[in-house]
Amino acid sequence: MTNGTRAKAGLGTLAGLFPFLRPYRKQFLLAGIALLVAAGATLGIPVAFRQMIDFGFGDAARRNAGQIDLVFLALFGLAALLAVATAARFYMVSWLGERVTADIRSAVYGHVITQSPVFFETTRTGEVLSRLTADTTLIQAVVGTSISMALRNALLFVGGMVMLFVTSVWLSSIILVLLLAVVVPIVVFGRRVRKLSRDSQDRIADASALAGEILNAMPTVQAFTREQAESDRFGATVEQAFRTAIDRIRARSMLTVIAILLVFGAIVFVLWLGAHAVLRGSMTAGELGQFILYATIVAGSIGALSEVLGEAQRAAGATERLLELHQAQPAITSPSHPAPLPTGTERGAALQLDSVSFHYPSRPLQASLSAVSLSIAAGETLAIVGPSGAGKTTLFQLLLRFYDPQQGRILLNGADIRTLALGDLRNTIGVVPQDTVVFSTSAMENIRYGRAGASDEEVIRAAQMAAAHEFIERLPEGYQSFLGERGVRLSGGQRQRIAIARAMLKNPPLLLLDEATSALDAESERLVQSALEAAMVGRTTLVIAHRLATVQRADRIVVMDEGRIVETGTHTELMAHGGLYASLAKLQFNSPV
Ligand code: ADP
Repeated sequence: MTNGTRAKAGLGTLAGLFPFLRPYRKQFLLAGIALLVAAGATLGIPVAFRQMIDFGFGDAARRNAGQIDLVFLALFGLAALLAVATAARFYMVSWLGERVTADIRSAVYGHVITQSPVFFETTRTGEVLSRLTADTTLIQAVVGTSISMALRNALLFVGGMVMLFVTSVWLSSIILVLLLAVVVPIVVFGRRVRKLSRDSQDRIADASALAGEILNAMPTVQAFTREQAESDRFGATVEQAFRTAIDRIRARSMLTVIAILLVFGAIVFVLWLGAHAVLRGSMTAGELGQFILYATIVAGSIGALSEVLGEAQRAAGATERLLELHQAQPAITSPSHPAPLPTGTERGAALQLDSVSFHYPSRPLQASLSAVSLSIAAGETLAIVGPSGAGKTTLFQLLLRFYDPQQGRILLNGADIRTLALGDLRNTIGVVPQDTVVFSTSAMENIRYGRAGASDEEVIRAAQMAAAHEFIERLPEGYQSFLGERGVRLSGGQRQRIAIARAMLKNPPLLLLDEATSALDAESERLVQSALEAAMVGRTTLVIAHRLATVQRADRIVVMDEGRIVETGTHTELMAHGGLYASLAKLQFNSPV
């Protein structure tokens, strides 16, 4: 999303944050008290200042020597109060900012993680990540500082204005006009600087996005000897960022000149008027000092308020996007009153598909499954074969209820899977995908992902059954070896055996296997095959098969094409039939077994 849409979200959007703030009423109250005390002390200081000048330095000083100590003591006392109250406000308000941001992060992440695949088809994970980090940081700034800044400066503005008029009505009327003349150009220019600094941030983000993409593709870049071209491309982005930054710096320099000249010009002018008033005797020196201080406070508060407004606008955009994530409804949910899961037999779960038709939400015109009907008995091993795009993977997605079919139903042990709790359904199913995800943690924990809470012995037993034990033992630190991104890279066959071990540990009544299409070396192939054989014992197994050995071992073979079941039977029957299977078999199963 661009900054343009960001700025458009109304400030009212921030109200969406209330549910996250509500639990911390007490802290807000404390912060409010500290805020009031600090603002009061700030507004008291000019009064004490006047007393200090009039009683401490003027003619009166000689007459009231005894009061001097008291006046200085009072000034210091106010300063001490200001110090403590300001620190307390800072602490409370920053605490709130951090607390609320942490809550929002966890809530949004916890919610996103329950979304169905449809959500992730339309939302890029990079975007979710940036919302969780960058957007929450903006909100933190608002809750953590902007709210208190706004309140503090609003108080100072109102209080300061009142005190200005109390001090001197005619000088106040003049300064009111001057303030407008000073503040308006500063605010306008400040806006421009802020916009430029946002542009500058965006350019830097562009450069790092580009660098990230290229660094991840180094082998490709070098194989095509595109180093120089990529380096130039990055250089151009960096130069663009530099130019934007210089624009910002130039505007900022202008702002500095304008601000200092105008502010000091106004102060000098009023001082000059005031000096004449003091000379005429219509004002004391202390009153003039007090006046100047109030004027500074009021001017400062106006500047700060305009800053805060900008921040709040950005945070409103961030809030809008975060709340959007937080309120997204998962397309697939558990029913509110789930039916109990019917227990299957000891041999596994029974499955039935009743004329299931399905198209992916992103492709409403193309059916990925058309009227698929199929009964699978408990304990049966069913091989699914068919050309790429036939709908084999889609079938698995529907069984796991990542999507719901538009027509027909799927029964698990006789119960429509839509009536079951999602957790119950998915706990019944073990999945061995073609491409196993290995997390960057130890081998032990990677397998334990199959069933949290399994003991080390159970994990090792599962690894032994999945023919993964030997290679894990041979890793530098055995089961404690780090796998994945920052650890040991596993071969395709090893990853699969990790996945099989995970599924064995889960020990599900229904197993979905997506056999790897990639060629494994003979040794891995043999190990994976024996692991799979072990995994299929005592459960119902559906396997997307690419190997002759697998289809020959299956009780039944289902041949799919273009979302339909076109043939069913055993290997021998289907070969004799001479249909799609026979021709596929000739092409695919070239390994002599
Ligand atoms: P197979 O596993 O047999 O190769 P799939 O089940 O993956 O086939 O795909 C069946 C059809 O559904 C194909 O036409 C494919 O392009 C389409 N398809 C698969 N996944 C998606 C998706 N996430 N969104 C849209 N279409 C998809």
